[in-house]
Amino acid sequence: MDKNLKKILENIKNNQMNSKKLKNEFKKIYQKEQGNNKILAVILSLLILGKCEFSYENFVKENSGCTIIVNGYVFSSNKQYAKQNLLIYKDKILATSEDLPDELPQGINSFNIIDATDMVITPGLIDQHIHGGFGVDFNYASEEDIIEFSQKIVKYGITTYYPTIMTASIDEIKEQIKIINQAKAIVPICSAKIDGINLEGPFLNSKYKGIHPSSSMLKPTVDNYKKIEDPEIKIITYAPELDENFELTKYLANSNVIASAGHTSASSEIIRLAADNGLKQVTHLFNAMLPLHHRNPGVIAEALINDNIFVEVIADGHHLQREIIDLIFKAKDSSKIIFISDSLPLNKADINSVTFGRQKIINKNKEVAVNADNVFAGSMSFLNVILKKNQNNYKHSLLCATKNVCDNLGINNYGEIKRGNIADLAMWKYAKQDKTLHLDFNKPDKVIISGKMLN
Ligand SMILES: [Zn+2]
Repeated sequence: MDKNLKKILENIKNNQMNSKKLKNEFKKIYQKEQGNNKILAVILSLLILGKCEFSYENFVKENSGCTIIVNGYVFSSNKQYAKQNLLIYKDKILATSEDLPDELPQGINSFNIIDATDMVITPGLIDQHIHGGFGVDFNYASEEDIIEFSQKIVKYGITTYYPTIMTASIDEIKEQIKIINQAKAIVPICSAKIDGINLEGPFLNSKYKGIHPSSSMLKPTVDNYKKIEDPEIKIITYAPELDENFELTKYLANSNVIASAGHTSASSEIIRLAADNGLKQVTHLFNAMLPLHHRNPGVIAEALINDNIFVEVIADGHHLQREIIDLIFKAKDSSKIIFISDSLPLNKADINSVTFGRQKIINKNKEVAVNADNVFAGSMSFLNVILKKNQNNYKHSLLCATKNVCDNLGINNYGEIKRGNIADLAMWKYAKQDKTLHLDFNKPDKVIISGKMLN
């Protein structure tokens, strides 16, 4: 321990520093010593010896610990990867080396130090469009199935997801919404969180049905929507060309539900007008929609050129070939690109086929699953695998599975590593090649969810 630090610690112990001076010393040393374990001595002196006189209203004197992550690279939206320490208290990020709070909590009586040497810390991944995995299908899953799913998927670094219900009868959809809501309320700690429901259908155009059962499709009207309306529905895929006078589009926009065009034959003009009336997103761009044509540009062209529209992308290298993903990144502002898994119940399941969308879906080669007509049925990858396939190609790919999703959904308390945000984090080992960090996205080394370390 260096002399200076020792002296400060002595002064703290002997009550010879007032709180203002303490705070300034703390800030100075914290900034100077970041990445160095000496800072821990200071933090512990301040927080644990109880000599700290700062009050912190939101963190009253409950017995609780804090976690300090040292020596790692932290991913942030502007600086990409930077060496930083993180201080986590309860479920939140209390401080980063770059951003210290004005006041510190009192009453901390335990602490946990995580050494993140050789690791990159990223926000937990967020999947807004996912039909299942491990054999679980959100169209039929029970509460127990959903809880088990949450406990399993979090191990891949996905800390929040939006269970996605595909086209089914009104009664079936209502029942599944009820079950997902019940599961959401009792998902145990250290599991991936459910933050809402994504409805893919039933208001689709049967011409681009994909694997959705056309017998259950309904006209997109406000009256039909009201039959299934629920505050947990955050995104709806529908065919805007069937929405008369954009009545449903307007209703969804006013209800804070993301209106997303998909399984659609809409023209560019319809998408442009729909966007003027509240359409915010296009569902899995290029898949299940009118193809791009130079004399009939359609939904795809408008989605690429309209700055008000977010686009979902299944960047698994099968639903979209590499050149098309390149095209999307060249044409579209990257902050409007959202990676989704569109993961199927067959993903990570020990079975070779499953009934999905009332038809048999078979596992073709572990990467692709299709129906009897060879139509793609969704992906066989979770978001971590999608990032693995894209990290070398696009600088912003991690944002497409974290911050961009939150920007789209209007969430501002997770999805980024910054002071005050919920501490949902994934820590990945990395290899350095050509001065760039290549993260091992196969599985995170550690996951922290709401400030708690996953065992
Ligand atoms: Zn889907």
